Amino acid sequence: MNYTGENILKGIPAAPGIAIATAYLYKKYKEDVTKEKIEDTDLAIQNLSEALEKSKKELQKIFSLAIDKMGEKRAGIFEAQLMILEDPVLLETIINRIKNEKINPEYVVSDEISKYQALMNASSEPYMKERSMDIEDIKNRIIKNIKNKKWKSRIASDVVVVTDVITPADTVLFTRVNVKGYVTDFGGLTSHAAIVARSLNIPAVVGTHDATDRIKNGDKIIVDGIHGTVIVNPTKEQLSEYERKLEKLNEINCELAKLRDKPAVTKDGKKIVLHANLDLEEELDFVVQNGAEGIGLVRTEQIFQVANSFPDEETQFQLYSKLAQKLYPLPITIRTFDIGGDKVLPLDIKEPNPFLGWRGIRFLLDNLELFKTQLRALLRASIHKNIKIMFPMITSIQEIRKTKQIVEICKNELKTENLNFDDNIPLGIMVEVPSSAVMAGKFAKEVDFVSIGTNDLIQYLLAVDRGNENVSAQYQEFHPAVINTLKYIIDECQNINTDVSICGEMAADILAVPLLIGLGLQSLSVSASVIPQIKKVVRSINYSDVKSLSDQCLTFETEEKIKNLIFEFYKTHLTEDLKDLM
Ligand code: PEP
Ligand code: MG
Repeated sequence: MNYTGENILKGIPAAPGIAIATAYLYKKYKEDVTKEKIEDTDLAIQNLSEALEKSKKELQKIFSLAIDKMGEKRAGIFEAQLMILEDPVLLETIINRIKNEKINPEYVVSDEISKYQALMNASSEPYMKERSMDIEDIKNRIIKNIKNKKWKSRIASDVVVVTDVITPADTVLFTRVNVKGYVTDFGGLTSHAAIVARSLNIPAVVGTHDATDRIKNGDKIIVDGIHGTVIVNPTKEQLSEYERKLEKLNEINCELAKLRDKPAVTKDGKKIVLHANLDLEEELDFVVQNGAEGIGLVRTEQIFQVANSFPDEETQFQLYSKLAQKLYPLPITIRTFDIGGDKVLPLDIKEPNPFLGWRGIRFLLDNLELFKTQLRALLRASIHKNIKIMFPMITSIQEIRKTKQIVEICKNELKTENLNFDDNIPLGIMVEVPSSAVMAGKFAKEVDFVSIGTNDLIQYLLAVDRGNENVSAQYQEFHPAVINTLKYIIDECQNINTDVSICGEMAADILAVPLLIGLGLQSLSVSASVIPQIKKVVRSINYSDVKSLSDQCLTFETEEKIKNLIFEFYKTHLTEDLKDLM
């Protein structure tokens, strides 16, 4: 197939598979608000009141966290915003205008709050002028929530969503309405939206730059998530070629499913443990069906992002218990909230460099109540002794030690309250920033296990934003610095007998698997959907061969050489059907 042509768009293949369906176009983050006539004023008022309720909840959360972080006085701006949301005169005016003038609620909100601001701006008091800026924020928050509401209620089933950017929460929503695939203008391979798409098996092509300009609502499109191409209004030949491919893909998947109960052992007898990553509760059955031997990473922040709020201890306890029980006796590693980065801060605080900001363990250690709530829920759910707790974004030994102290405090509280838990619950860290890679041996001594997060490790090691399509060529998982760092971490952990595994997306890349095993990894955690493919690779290789392959790769100084050698290896060592998946 020739992957270029007038009706073909190129992007980054973010989630494999092929989808052929009608396009649903949505420019979600269009900032401007235009005046539109509406028919259904009741629905508009309902959308408005739900958006107001949501804005109120967001602000209350922001307010209480801001008091902790910024002190009561500065947090007062959020309280002022809350008061506007409850101003009866303003709300009545907005509702009356929607009813009487039959215009869209976001326009009326914008217009009415702008009037408020204009009055404040006209004041001679500098204080009032400042407040007017704060009100801009609440105005935008309400408008965003009305738009999101509309965007969510409008997505039809069985379409390919074409939009500028997508959040992980949007991707989750897509499964609920059976979206067939998605195409975005922006985004990279290991952005969280792409990871969720992979785990949900929704074919996706991201970072096309101009899909929303070139695709119209209702166009027929083909999304090829294997090669990163999108075909708009395909010709007869293109369509029949892709229908053939789709059939072939289904056949391969049926074949792979037969491997479910077979062990993941290399031809020369080395056992590899295959665990699954879990981003959504709904994936759990899929994990077991696909033959995972446990869960190596539960991204709790994703699960609760769907709920859109920080759940209380009881809600978390129920969920963790359910996951642990369903999986029992298989092990399940649950990671504490990794908030920040592209997984937006609940505070809605805008940081200039979110990936270098208030993220993961830093956020948790600064919000102890929230952290302790999660730890207590995890401990209480650990009675069957199959839960392990993992901490994200560790950069220093102090963070590990402080975290362990907090776990001890929670354990003592539970003891006093006569609540049961696993006193020997294993604690582990993600090694995903260069400082913890360099210190891997010393950090590993402090914990029971280590999991390498290559998604972030590559981003931080190579200084390449994992979600930015403009630098996706520089995001090189086979960069010699990456594989030498992996080798170093693995050796350091194994020298002191600390379990080391990998849960970044690199482990799900069938091209990387022989190399990773050759580097010494015996445990991989990947999206459940790719476990059969990975198992097939493991069962087709000899450990001795992949060991020599990785030894040789470690001597190379360019990614190109490393990749070429791996391609050669595939040609000579692997079967035809695996090549179809590449
Ligand atoms: C990683 O960084 O590799 C990882 C598994 O964590 P996340 O993708 O959630 O940042
Ligand atoms: Mg990470």
